[in-house]
Amino acid sequence: MNDFTYKNGALYCEELRVADIAEKVGTPFYLYSRNTFSSHYKAIDEAFGDIPHLVCYSVKTNSNVAIVSLMASQGAGADVVSGGELYRALQAGVDPKKIVFAGLGKTEAEIEYALKEGILMFNVESSQELMLINEVATRTGTEAPIAVRVNPDIDPRTHPYIATGLKQSKFGIPLAQAMAEYEVAQRLPGLNPIGIHQHIGSQILDSAPFENSLTKITNLAKSLRVLGMDIRYVNIGGGFGIQYTDEEAPAPEQFASALVPLLNETGCTVIMEVGRMIAGNAGILVTSVLYNKQGEEKKFVVVDAAMNDLIRPSLYQAAHQIAPVVQKDGAPEVKVDVVGPVCESGDFLAQDRELPEVQSGDLLAVFTAGAYGFAMSSNYNSRTRVPEILVSGRKAYVIRRRETYEDLIRGEAIPEDL
Ligand SMILES: *Cc1c(COP(=O)(O)O)cnc(C)c1O
Repeated sequence: MNDFTYKNGALYCEELRVADIAEKVGTPFYLYSRNTFSSHYKAIDEAFGDIPHLVCYSVKTNSNVAIVSLMASQGAGADVVSGGELYRALQAGVDPKKIVFAGLGKTEAEIEYALKEGILMFNVESSQELMLINEVATRTGTEAPIAVRVNPDIDPRTHPYIATGLKQSKFGIPLAQAMAEYEVAQRLPGLNPIGIHQHIGSQILDSAPFENSLTKITNLAKSLRVLGMDIRYVNIGGGFGIQYTDEEAPAPEQFASALVPLLNETGCTVIMEVGRMIAGNAGILVTSVLYNKQGEEKKFVVVDAAMNDLIRPSLYQAAHQIAPVVQKDGAPEVKVDVVGPVCESGDFLAQDRELPEVQSGDLLAVFTAGAYGFAMSSNYNSRTRVPEILVSGRKAYVIRRRETYEDLIRGEAIPEDL
């Protein structure tokens, strides 16, 4: 379900014509639907409604403070992976008691910041990190609630760059070592082990990898309780896959019906760190056609958005559906590469794609761009980052303005004696 639909050949976001918004704000831009964001969140929240649970929105997926605030207003917590994300979550009004902090390179300053704000827990990724958190907590006279991020060695059958729970992966602590880490944590005065965490990957299209890892985690939870640890939370991470083109993605209820019986057995409050499933289909990238170009072997459609705006095609070989914002009757289909202006051969939004023929000035929508879209954008080639627009019914809000050339050099300095 999402709120990007065609009516009489024109693409709408909720009740607004995308072409009208493009006229006002110029291209390229990201466009989000408030209703899609909140209904995706609700669908997940309700699917797991039979068990005690907390949905933590994965801030890295789409970090705009308006989006995080929208999630907080729905009751979501936040999954953060840096001090900057913690700051965003707090600015957006997320209850600190609903914030979990993962990431394998937390600095001392970040740990101190999170402790001071009283977050729900740290997801600890190494024994040295465990020691540092204990040190900071003891020094500041507090106790840090923690979960160990276990690496269950599970193949999530996704792109290697987004598989995070294999034994070759840099993330988490091997299941076989986790027990020992918990015993250390139990003895240290600055640590309070209250949960178990995993995050096995992203864009997972099947509940089996979760089922397999949950069996392992449930056993660990039991052993920890035997040792007298009060394990109250099982955090299954994120990774629920979505439809980009023709994948079949399970609905939240399908994941829930497979997982809830297993989760029930843990006797814990379940935390989910959901990003893509909430944000992915809640956003599109709108771009204008600049040129049609005939190469020796290929036809290129050169557009004004590029890999610096949406890096997923270049980075993950990701396929995003692309379609004209205003459909033209009888336009023939042509096989093209949709490319941007950046000086890299890897700069493409689609390759060998059948698209209706387009002309300079036509608008194209790149769908399913709400997750890992703007959040991964950069200023490469000194391109200004594009605006983000949030639609709610008949209203459109600029939730991030287009950058200017002045923004590009903000903070830079030319030494006087240069
Ligand atoms: C990226 C990430 C998520 C979110 O993953 P999705 O696939 O977008 O749901 C959740 N937890 C952690 C620790 C992550 O790094």
